[in-house]
Amino acid sequence: MFIDSHAHLENKCFDGDRAEVFARAREAGIKAILAIGNGDGPGTDTLDCAVKLSRRYEWVYATVGIHPHEANLAKRDDFDRLEQLAGEPRVIAWGEIGLDYFYDHSPREVQQHVFVRQMEMARAAKLPIVIHCRPSRDSENAWDDVLRLIREHWSSGGLGGVLHCFTGNVAQASRALDLGFMVSFAGNITFPKAKNIRDAAAIVPLDRMFIETDSPYLAPVPHRGKRNEPAFVREVAHQIGVLRGLCAEEVGRLTAANFSRIFGLSG
Ligand SMILES: [Zn+2]
Ligand SMILES: [Zn+2]
Repeated sequence: MFIDSHAHLENKCFDGDRAEVFARAREAGIKAILAIGNGDGPGTDTLDCAVKLSRRYEWVYATVGIHPHEANLAKRDDFDRLEQLAGEPRVIAWGEIGLDYFYDHSPREVQQHVFVRQMEMARAAKLPIVIHCRPSRDSENAWDDVLRLIREHWSSGGLGGVLHCFTGNVAQASRALDLGFMVSFAGNITFPKAKNIRDAAAIVPLDRMFIETDSPYLAPVPHRGKRNEPAFVREVAHQIGVLRGLCAEEVGRLTAANFSRIFGLSG
């Protein structure tokens, strides 16, 4: 049994066959999915997109939050809406939130401000956070800022969280683990050039690890370049298994147990 800890299933590319995507996930042994609720961002009526999916499928959980890409669009009404949605029973985390200095779609100071504000809101809602962190090319800038802001504004609350779609190196994984975070690996761990990610996956303790697809993005080999979907999380488990001397099912079982423990779910 596998849990896909991160997927954007409200994405329009699933409009034509969303029910089949969920059905294929079940057939592939996916027992739960964490649907990420960023939607089209602030100022749209999509901040509840993951909540809606979690109402339709009893094995799907939801997050709420504003992605760093859209931080500059966030207004008071949007924060009010998130606060309200965070109280929904199947919302188990706040995210994805963080910093993206690769695309810089929002000014960095605004990204930092919206990140900190959402950490405060997540703490009030007693929800762990899902972090997105992408530095500019050949830099560690976003890592330095994300880890510093987590230390200053989050760690003391003890709610923890996960660094999603980990793309860093061994040193960065160690820093995240030191802060008490989980590290989640996505389909890019299967890409030939991603040796740094595989090196990190070889040292992250098995009880500190999640797996995810980040669907519809980053489809793993052998589906690379196509639309990603939760059933493909098996490929991520398989790759980690190769690194750790385990079968994909065992990696699935261990990471699913981690997910249930961190989010306080039974089984
Ligand atoms: Zn992300
Ligand atoms: Zn994502």
